[in-house]
Amino acid sequence: MENNTHPKKPHAVLFPYPLQGHVIPSVPLAVKLASNGFTITFINTHFIHHQIKISQPNPTDNDDIFSEARKSGLDIRYQVIGDGFPLGFDRSLNHDLFWEVFPKVFPTHVEELLDDMVPSSEPPLTCLIADTFFTFFSMIAAKYNLVNISFWTEPALVLTLYYHMDLLKENGHFDSPDNRKDVITYIPGVPAIEPKDLMSYLQATDTSTTVHQILNKAFSDVKKSDFILINTVQELEPNTISALQEKQPTFAIGPIFPSGFSKSIVATNMWSESDCSQWLSTKRNGSVLYVSFGSYAHASKKDIEEIAYGLSLSKVNFIWVLRPDIVSSDETDILPVGFEDKIKGRGLIVTWCCQIEVLSHPAIGGFITHCGWNSILESIWCRIPLLAYPLLTDQFTNRKLVVDDWKIGINLVDNKPITREEVSEKINRLMGGKSRGELMKKIEEARNTLENALSHSGSSENNFSQFVSELKVKIEKRRGLLVI
Ligand code: UDP
Repeated sequence: MENNTHPKKPHAVLFPYPLQGHVIPSVPLAVKLASNGFTITFINTHFIHHQIKISQPNPTDNDDIFSEARKSGLDIRYQVIGDGFPLGFDRSLNHDLFWEVFPKVFPTHVEELLDDMVPSSEPPLTCLIADTFFTFFSMIAAKYNLVNISFWTEPALVLTLYYHMDLLKENGHFDSPDNRKDVITYIPGVPAIEPKDLMSYLQATDTSTTVHQILNKAFSDVKKSDFILINTVQELEPNTISALQEKQPTFAIGPIFPSGFSKSIVATNMWSESDCSQWLSTKRNGSVLYVSFGSYAHASKKDIEEIAYGLSLSKVNFIWVLRPDIVSSDETDILPVGFEDKIKGRGLIVTWCCQIEVLSHPAIGGFITHCGWNSILESIWCRIPLLAYPLLTDQFTNRKLVVDDWKIGINLVDNKPITREEVSEKINRLMGGKSRGELMKKIEEARNTLENALSHSGSSENNFSQFVSELKVKIEKRRGLLVI
């Protein structure tokens, strides 16, 4: 009774996927919801929490990554749960084993947590927000009578392609002994896409892998969610988003960045950051190329060598983020002999940095990227044109958006194999070639699109408000059902 007349604050439990590129946008989403009157309980796995903690300058200070955010009045609580493996287990080296076991054991950990939380939470738990890649949250939402919100951290185009895997299969473009190679024209909201631009998993010939099992379950589960939130912008992908909206309530609310596009007060990095600002301040504006392949993808040693030689030949200044496991965590000696001496003074190699700080620095003029979605959004925000070097998963599809559709970048490699000469030529084309003016014009337009979406009556702000009001109605209906 009381709940119906004096609705309490919505309380959402938020489960990011346990990967760096998914935790990063989930944190500002939590902050945004809490700034709009929600209580949020944010759940990391023990492993993600541990990595974040040991990567901080003062590891002991960080048992609750939201403690600073709470001091500013936000009601964000934090809990950690197991992912089925000990902390010391190398999840990067044992990728397949981890992803085979994780979806089987994680639901039990989630249920244990919610068995504790649901009876005693104040305000009562009313909804759950879970990354779309999870396979089982519709079951959890039903069990605890929670409104089920799916959070998609990649472009709408990628979501819709996974969403329509059945159509791709029926038409022989996916999961057939000899996948068709002609243009795909039947996906709702996607006028045309070539098979080479599908996500790597949809181009694979072996579809019996663990990842395929996850995809099949996750994209059947998302169809049972009450709402889908996407970290994209309506005006960037209008047709795709409209077509998804015809299927279920879908809201483009991006780009979701830390407030002020500055270093987040909530720690999210799983590797220790090197400070690049001093080095950058010695360089001319627009003269430095930033190179990073994100947190998850691997590159072959041969390709890393060609990129190294290409950087060396190009003569440009650069910062290169080389994660310790970029080739594999058991192969760390990957750069050509003498490379670091050769590039002294104009090249800085780090294992991790605060990317949004680096991209915001006026010295940065270009970005060789693996085409991770966060990196693309961040680069657009900083007006940095891209050299696209997709390696895996959605990165091939994101490349199409960047290079073919929005024209804010060029391909690092047009034909495989990658060669140092082509790398050097493309770097110089990006940093100072004839086409740079056109790229800068397009990236300025894209930046305006993002900025407008976040403005007071912009599409993402409107979509966010619309989502909150529809969610509140749904929560009240659920409460009504409970009373009956
Ligand atoms: N990132 C960072 N420092 C680095 C490299 C990456 O802070 O040295 C951040 C980057 O800003 C982005 C995220 O890590 O927010 C990577 O996400 P993305 O979607 O680009 O790629 P993924 O890691 O998921 O493949």
